[in-house]
Amino acid sequence: MADDCIFCRILAGEIPSAKVYEDDQLFAFRDINPQAPTHVLIIPREHIPSLNDLEGRHADLLGRIVLAAKEIAAQEGLADGWRFVFNCGPAAGQEVYHIHAHLLGGRPMTWPPG
Ligand code: AMP
Repeated sequence: MADDCIFCRILAGEIPSAKVYEDDQLFAFRDINPQAPTHVLIIPREHIPSLNDLEGRHADLLGRIVLAAKEIAAQEGLADGWRFVFNCGPAAGQEVYHIHAHLLGGRPMTWPPG
């Protein structure tokens, strides 16, 4: 855990969150500033600052994040489709340096994203 990381503090229960899923490696909760009717963040329990910090040993963890997203999308009734986004680094708009996947759905999505 990183003491100055807001998502580590959510994992520790120090900051409240609206949980939608958890397992031994992952936690998922609703984004506090939703950009779509469904906007869920999926995070690993391990503190990894950004995708640039991933190592080969994280391959299974990443697969689990994608599979969790599929399960959550089904739970949320997103049969028409959903978007799955990682922001990496300042130019991509990453604000929280604990990797997180955004799962968005419930409205039409445009491409390219802004
Ligand atoms: P990113 O720009 O990819 O780093 O996304 C960070 C996301 O975390 C943003 O969509 C924020 O709205 C969200 N966020 C920040 N603090 C919280 C919080 N306490 N609970 C839920 N979502 C949060």
